[in-house]
Amino acid sequence: MAKYIFVTGGVISSVGKGISVASIGRVLKSRSISVSVQKLDPYLNVDPGTMSPYQHGEVFVTQDGAETDLDLGHYERFIDVELTRASNVTSGEIYSTIIANERRGDFLGGTIQIVPHVTNEIKRRIRQVAEISNADVVIVEVGGTVGDIEGQPFLEAIRQMRGEEGRDNVLYIHVTFLPYIAATDELKTKPTQHSVNELRRIGIQPDVILCRSDREISEGIKDKISLFCDVPKEAVIPLVTSETIYEVPLMLEEYGLGDFIVNRLGLEAKEANLDDWHKMVARLKAPKELVVIGLVGKYVELHDAYYSVREALCHAALAHNLDVKIEWLSSEGLDGGNDDKLRQVQGIVVPGGFGHRGIEGMVETAKFAREEKVPYLGLCLGMQIMVIEFGRHVFHNMRVNSTEFDADTPYPVIDLLPGQRDISQKGGTMRLGTYPCCLVPGTKAAQAYNRETIYERHRHRFEFNNRFRQPLEEAGLISSGLSPDGKLVEIVELKNHPWMVACQFHPEFKSRPDSPHPLFVNFIKVANETLVEGAQTSLPLS
Ligand code: GLN
Repeated sequence: MAKYIFVTGGVISSVGKGISVASIGRVLKSRSISVSVQKLDPYLNVDPGTMSPYQHGEVFVTQDGAETDLDLGHYERFIDVELTRASNVTSGEIYSTIIANERRGDFLGGTIQIVPHVTNEIKRRIRQVAEISNADVVIVEVGGTVGDIEGQPFLEAIRQMRGEEGRDNVLYIHVTFLPYIAATDELKTKPTQHSVNELRRIGIQPDVILCRSDREISEGIKDKISLFCDVPKEAVIPLVTSETIYEVPLMLEEYGLGDFIVNRLGLEAKEANLDDWHKMVARLKAPKELVVIGLVGKYVELHDAYYSVREALCHAALAHNLDVKIEWLSSEGLDGGNDDKLRQVQGIVVPGGFGHRGIEGMVETAKFAREEKVPYLGLCLGMQIMVIEFGRHVFHNMRVNSTEFDADTPYPVIDLLPGQRDISQKGGTMRLGTYPCCLVPGTKAAQAYNRETIYERHRHRFEFNNRFRQPLEEAGLISSGLSPDGKLVEIVELKNHPWMVACQFHPEFKSRPDSPHPLFVNFIKVANETLVEGAQTSLPLS
C-alpha cells in the first residue's frame, strides 16, 4: 500500500515548491524507495495546453501525451521517472468529469456538492497515481498557496486522506517563505505562523515546515517556528536559495529530511546514496569554460517558457565540462537581417512555438545559421522554420511557408495532414506524446543517438509536407529520421553544414542532469568547436 506525502505552499507563490517536491522525491529514491508524483492545480482550465506561456510558462508533455504543468518536468528530471497523465490534475478536469457524470445520471438525482462529490473525485485521482505507479510513496503537490479560494476542495480532500489512509501513512509538508527585513537585519516568521494557522483552520497540522529564505536561518528562528507552529525542531528544514536547483536534494538530505520521512512513515529503506548526485552538483558548480548559445524565440523575456530547453542545454554542456551561457534573443528583434547578436553566439537554438508572431525573425535566423555555417538545433517549430527557410532558398520564393502562418501559400512545405483540417477544438487535439522514429544510417542524427530507433515526445499540429520532399532533398536537405511507415519526416539536417539538425519532436523533455540528451550533447560539442569573434567564452557564469 502506498504512503502519501502532501506538499502545500504558504505565504507567497514561487518559493520553489515544485523543486522541493522533486528534491524530496530524489532523497527518497536515493534510499531505494520507489516514488511517484502528482501535481494538483486548482485553476479551472482542463489542462495547461491551451494556456499562454506568459501565464503558465512551459507546457511539459508526458510520454502518454498529456499537456501538463512544468513542475512535472522538475519531477522527471530530479527523480528520473516517467510520469503519466494521472500525474497532473486540475479543478477544470475534476469539475468536467463530475458534470459529465451528472448529465449521464450517475448521481441518481442527488445534489452534487463540493463535499463529498468533488473531494471524492480528487481522492480518486490521487489514489489512481498509487495504483498506476505501484510506488511506495506518492508525493502530491497542491498548486497555489494556502488560503486561495480555488484550493479549498483540494486541501479538504488531502485532510480526509489522513483519516482514511491511516495517520502513519500520510505526511504533510508545508513550504513557506521567511522575508528578510534589511533595516533590522532579520528574517521574519510571522507570515509562516499565519499560513500554518490557515492550514490548521482547515484541519491540517503540518508535520514538516520547509522554510525558503534568501539568507541563512538561525537556530533561534528555527526554535520560534517549531514552538509557534507545533512542529519538532528537526522538522523545521531550511531551504536557503542555492546556486543551482540541483543542490536542493543535497540540502534537504543534510538537514535530515530523508530520515525524518522514513521514520515518520515507517518506510523500508536502504542507506541514502546521493554520491553520484553530489559529484554532479560539484561539477555543475565548478567554474568552467563557457559555450555561448543563442536561443531565438518569441517568449524570451520569460525564461520559464523554455524551461526544459534551458535545462537540456545545461545538462549537455555539463557533459562536456562546460557552462552554457544562453543569449535570449527575441525573434521579433531579428526581423530584417539584424544579425549582430547572432554573430556573438557559437550555436543557435530555435525552440517550439505557436502563431505567426516573430516567425520572420526565426526564418532570418535559420538563414543566417545556414549561410554562416553556425550550428543550429531546431525543436519542433524550429524544424518547421528550417524547412521554410530552406524552401525559400531552393524555390527562390519568399512565400514558401507553413499553412499555420500563410493559409494560401503556394509552397506549403509545412502543412496539416489530410483529416487533420478541423481544428475548431483547440484543447488536446495535437499530435501528442511519444512516437517512434527510425534514424537513417550515416546521418548526423544517427551518429548522435548511435541507435536505429528512438522514441520522442511530440506536441504539434503541422507536419513536413511530403509533396516537397524530393526537390528539397535534391537540394541538400536530408531526412534523417522518419516514422516507421516512412510517411512522416521527424528529423531533417543539412548537407555541407557543420551541424544544422532539427526535429519535429521535443527532445528537451527527456534530458536529465545525469543523462543528457544525445542531440543536445552533440549540438553543444559542435557549438563549442565554433570560434566566434568577440564571444565571451572565458567569463564566469552569471
Ligand atoms: N506551431 C507548430 C505546430 O503546431 C509547432 C508546435 C511546436 O513547436 N510545439 O505544428
